[in-house]
Amino acid sequence: MEYSKLVDIYQSLSQTTKMLEKRAIITDFLRGIKPDEVEASILLLEGRLFPESDKRKIGIGNQLILKSISKVSGKTDTDLNDQWAKIGDLGLVAEKNISSRTQDSLTQRKLTIKQVFDNLRKLSEIHGTGSTGKKVGLISELLGASNSVDSKYLVRTCLEDLRTGSGFGILRDAVADAFDVDVKNVQKAYDLTTDLSRVALVAKTRGDAGLEKISLNVGTPIKVMLFKKVESVEEGFEVVGSPAIIDYKYDGFRLQIHRSDNEFKLFTRNLEDVTTQFPDIIEIVKKDVKSKNYIIDCEVVGYDKDTKSWKPFQEISQRIKRKYGIDDMIKEVPVMIFAFDLIGLSGKNFIDIPFKDRREKLSEIITEDSFSVSLAKEITTSSIEQSQEFYEEALRVGAEGVMMKNLEGVYKPGSRVGFGVKIKPVMETLDLVIVGGEWGTGKRANWISSFILACRTEDGFKEIGKIGTGFKEKDEMGVSFDKMTKLLKPFIIGESGRSVKIKPGVIIEVKYEEIQRSPTYGSGYALRFPRFVRLRDDKDLKDVDNLKRILKLSSAQRGRK
Ligand code: AMP
Repeated sequence: MEYSKLVDIYQSLSQTTKMLEKRAIITDFLRGIKPDEVEASILLLEGRLFPESDKRKIGIGNQLILKSISKVSGKTDTDLNDQWAKIGDLGLVAEKNISSRTQDSLTQRKLTIKQVFDNLRKLSEIHGTGSTGKKVGLISELLGASNSVDSKYLVRTCLEDLRTGSGFGILRDAVADAFDVDVKNVQKAYDLTTDLSRVALVAKTRGDAGLEKISLNVGTPIKVMLFKKVESVEEGFEVVGSPAIIDYKYDGFRLQIHRSDNEFKLFTRNLEDVTTQFPDIIEIVKKDVKSKNYIIDCEVVGYDKDTKSWKPFQEISQRIKRKYGIDDMIKEVPVMIFAFDLIGLSGKNFIDIPFKDRREKLSEIITEDSFSVSLAKEITTSSIEQSQEFYEEALRVGAEGVMMKNLEGVYKPGSRVGFGVKIKPVMETLDLVIVGGEWGTGKRANWISSFILACRTEDGFKEIGKIGTGFKEKDEMGVSFDKMTKLLKPFIIGESGRSVKIKPGVIIEVKYEEIQRSPTYGSGYALRFPRFVRLRDDKDLKDVDNLKRILKLSSAQRGRK
């Protein structure tokens, strides 16, 4: 099938906001594709080239796209850069500039869906010297063979930013409709594979019976279960029911450990394969987990090699990316694991088993060993008082808070269904000043939609993070991006591409989850998950919080031991 047919679908999807219409459009399209087009079509409809469980990445940045558009259209980089700053969407920049060259689109629209897909996938294989040129060459070739609308979606696909407003739920429902299978089976098979393209092919070729046969595969990551935040243990009981299992919430990073005989695989929360970075964890589980086939969900926590006290996540985060000098890293930044869930054991899928039973099985296979592996510390209780004490104890010993979990809850990959919640302390807010920002893209193209924050230091204002959350799309709902942009415009002192430099003048109050060290910002610190609370036009530049107070709050974050 021709790529232009898929582009017509993208266009129709963008023209309606009605979910049912979107679903019908996709259903109709899927009914017309052949089995060997399913993979490409589903992934391209998802706006990606590889399923989430696949570690390959296409890795194309804005600059590469700008170069490619320049090559095909003959426009200069500066011209295209200016257009991009104004329009805020490189897809639209491609559409505008490539149209001028390829008026005679009839002869151009010959690319098939498979050709586009296969060629885009090749981008992920280009590495090393001269790779930029090769990538630009490949993208330009595709753009050269496209008309303007096709090029818009080609560019957006490269940037993994399709903007057709049809998320996973719509696609999943359309797959069920098109191939006449039960949507529950589609969801279930997706939960186990994290790959809708594979699920769709099975649905098309083998129907419900085929879907029901799809099972958990040790070695293929599944999406981890997520937890909603609540403010108190009372609220926690309301969500998860009573009694509940309450765990310490450790401050490290989530890890899914897969073992199948002597094959080990480690995946982060984002399903990134980090097996080679953590041979020490493999040694730990080899020694202390009594099974040769399992999927364990756990938190990896770093500790100080001398004092043995836990380290905050940011101090071990370097280990996730580090691909060389791993032996030194293991000595320098040792880690241990706190296991809290069991997703599969001995070839059996555990996701439908009640949490209390998964947890019991987990405790049976783990031999606890200090500074290598422990079960997350837990209690089972219905008492608010006891829960509160446990929460305070958790904070006292340096945990981040607690998790409360429904005893009977199943493991629900990728969603925050209320089988578990997290509780952690609310931090005091900060008053910070805006010193920079970035023009938005798409619907937000005329607004500055992210802002650089700064605090006071003895050496003037220094950056301490970026914020884009907590602002509204419309004035009636609160402080809008439009309002922020109008307030900031008089203070703009420089622009380059989409970045804006702003003279300190607008002060806002922000909340956040944590203060962490950061080499990225001038202050040496960054706020984790900052969120806008309100404008502080009642405050003066001298009232902006200074770094000293921030450092005090930072060290009071929790009594790490
Ligand atoms: P947050 O990152 O604030 O959304 O909190 C959820 C995260 O806490 C999970 O994704 C885990 O990485 C981490 N965590 C730490 N301890 C536990 C635990 N006992 N149970 C579940 N998650 C935990």
